[in-house]
Amino acid sequence: MTNINILSPHVADMIAAGEVVERPASVIKELVENSIDAGADSITIEIKNGGSSMIRITDNGSGMSPEDAGIAFMRHATSKLHDEYGLDSISTMGFRGEALAAISAVSRIDMVTREQGAEQGIRVILEAGDIQNMEECGCPYGTTITVRDLFYNTPARRKFLKTERSETTACTQTAVRCALSRPDISIHYIKDGSEEFFTPGDGDSLSGMYAIFGRDFANKMLSCNGSNDKVSVKGYVSSPAACRGNRAYQYFFCNNRYIRSPLLQAAVEQAYENSMLVGHYPACCLYIDIGYGAVDVNVHPTKTEVKFMEEKKVFDAVYHAALAAIQKENLLSTPAAPTDAAKISESDSVPAFRSSGTPARPETFRPRYEDSPARSYRSNTAPRDEAPVPFAFSGGSAAGQTSLDGFGDARPQPSGASDPEPQTKKSSSEVPPFRMIGEVMNTYILVQQDEKLIIIDKHACHERIIFDRLLTEDRSVMSQILMVPVTVKTDEETATLLEENGELLTDLGFELEPYGDNSHIIRAVPADMYESDVTAAFEEICQQLKDHRTVDLEARKTNILKTVACKAAIKAGWKTDVRELFVLAEAVVSQKIKYCPHGRPVAVVYTREDLDKEFKRIV
Ligand code: ADP
Ligand code: MG
Repeated sequence: MTNINILSPHVADMIAAGEVVERPASVIKELVENSIDAGADSITIEIKNGGSSMIRITDNGSGMSPEDAGIAFMRHATSKLHDEYGLDSISTMGFRGEALAAISAVSRIDMVTREQGAEQGIRVILEAGDIQNMEECGCPYGTTITVRDLFYNTPARRKFLKTERSETTACTQTAVRCALSRPDISIHYIKDGSEEFFTPGDGDSLSGMYAIFGRDFANKMLSCNGSNDKVSVKGYVSSPAACRGNRAYQYFFCNNRYIRSPLLQAAVEQAYENSMLVGHYPACCLYIDIGYGAVDVNVHPTKTEVKFMEEKKVFDAVYHAALAAIQKENLLSTPAAPTDAAKISESDSVPAFRSSGTPARPETFRPRYEDSPARSYRSNTAPRDEAPVPFAFSGGSAAGQTSLDGFGDARPQPSGASDPEPQTKKSSSEVPPFRMIGEVMNTYILVQQDEKLIIIDKHACHERIIFDRLLTEDRSVMSQILMVPVTVKTDEETATLLEENGELLTDLGFELEPYGDNSHIIRAVPADMYESDVTAAFEEICQQLKDHRTVDLEARKTNILKTVACKAAIKAGWKTDVRELFVLAEAVVSQKIKYCPHGRPVAVVYTREDLDKEFKRIV
């Protein structure tokens, strides 16, 4: 015989606890959200032993009256939702009235709270959800909740806790997300008695990042803003040169809640295409503001997943904001650290979870919207459009004896065969004045601009210039007929790919003719390419076609153009005419280019301060 029992509220709480309270980190999240809802502008998070022996959250928010304090731990006790009409416009973090009931059901709680303006505070002691004691006490305004011995009465759940180290890491992650989610709230995080970070709560997320991840990290962030009719995006993205080997430093917040979003991740990463090393990921801290009706936050009880009603609008806004930030980056100036955060942070060298290992890389998700304005945007803003740039180094001779089209008479002339004299470039409206010092090792160009020493990688720089030009060429890429056609033999798979991509290759300046038995004769190649490089370039392109067979046409084209640009660029080690060096230096000094198509920086900059430090003139 079966009996249907109505679960006692107590058991129901313990079941709910499984959903709301997975691990110590979720307790932190729920309690901090309550403090935020209570209007606190200062919150302290303390944990011991990965949170399993103790979690304490202290806030200076509204506090609770003795009556509210008595019922706050009952299931469905909430002050935030009165009827079903409120459900559509939830602006507080919590609203289900579940968290305190769920947490208290599986722990020992000591809460002290004092309502703003009240004479006295009240202390409530609970064990496994039952109130043991309630008494008046003296305490500051606000609320302190101490949660001890999490899951002490549910041994099965306690067994599921991971090692203390990984629970600590999860707690720290949560504290970081809470802190970054609200730059206007000062958050203090103390782990096993030692201070991990203390954000100033000055409203600027850069100050928060500075306090949490340290100065070096914050200095490499670029401000990122944008909006369209549906969403606004603000925050920071990393300079392409400061990208990292994993996605651990990508933070997205939607209406001030931390969210996970493969969509936003893809939008940011797509903006870094062509300016970031392969296998690297940008860091970011981005705040998406969107009307409450345009996003569904109720997808999951722990609310880190959201559903955007108009994904494409959100994607585009983030993509364009990030792209604009990268393009605006002023390579030649060193961004200043936020000054007020500097006073507070002692945690420069103790970034919150730098020591905690590398999280597994999430699967890549790359929505590619057909006709996405992303692509046309890129071509519209490429450097070539700003001014006709005389970068027509013709690639006819393998010796690097290149000719320059489009040089005006005002350009400096080479001073004979000997090393060029240092020359100062006359200022023009576009190119700030700079002094060419010379070239070293036939590889690096040295330039002085104001109080900066700029060292330019001539190959990377030229490669970028050619790549940008090829990308923006509206017609097919110009090709050159080879004096001596080159025959290449491939495997069958490659031969098929070459045939499938025939049109693309023709478009890019190649002329191929099948020759039977998986062989091809190459009759023409892009005009820029050095003849001596044809075979190597071709092999690289075949490999790319294999590696990128699943990506769309546009991406395949970009990849091939990178190879063409690389093979067309002057090489490190080659002797280069000083006038060519000037053109390259100009492109860097005028900020037209910053990264080679593979994402390596084209130049490094030393300020006077950098050098003075190096020589210990200053500390
Ligand atoms: P919810 O946040 O969904 O309302 P909770 O169980 O998290 O449910 O909290 C229950 C109620 O307790 C809240 O609605 C609020 O009135 C009160 N409360 C909880 N934490 C605090 C706090 N730190 N300061 C003031 N009030 C609080
Ligand atoms: Mg809550």
